[in-house]
Amino acid sequence: MEDCIFCSIVAKETPANIEYEDEEIMAFWDIEPKVEVHILIVPKKHIPSITDLQDIDSPLIGKMVMVAKLLAEKKGISEDGYRLVFNVGKHSGQVVNHIHLHLMGGEPLGEMTD
Ligand code: AMP
Ligand code: ZN
Repeated sequence: MEDCIFCSIVAKETPANIEYEDEEIMAFWDIEPKVEVHILIVPKKHIPSITDLQDIDSPLIGKMVMVAKLLAEKKGISEDGYRLVFNVGKHSGQVVNHIHLHLMGGEPLGEMTD
């Protein structure tokens, strides 16, 4: 997909601090971490938003959650807890139109609406 920053990271055209990669998924640090641990889990396939998901994508989304769980364990934040967030569309403030799951933790987190 042209002009998609996350497709560009997946293609290794734009550098990123990559934490995980397999044939379907990549995870890398958020360029502006909002908390101590802030990693984005993305499908390699370009899907703009949760709104665009089809039934066939269910296993992919499940796998993204499992990668988040794995990375939380790897970063040592599982025991204290963390937050997983999908922003979807305008009202959520989604700015990158390529599905991404925010893994946020490593410190106490504020209210959901912060
Ligand atoms: P969202 O508001 O859910 O669309 O969040 C997009 C996130 O992507 C923000 O937290 C940005 O800091 C992050 N971001 C934007 N560009 C990059 C990039 N080149 N590498 C890593 N993270 C990025
Ligand atoms: Zn993309």
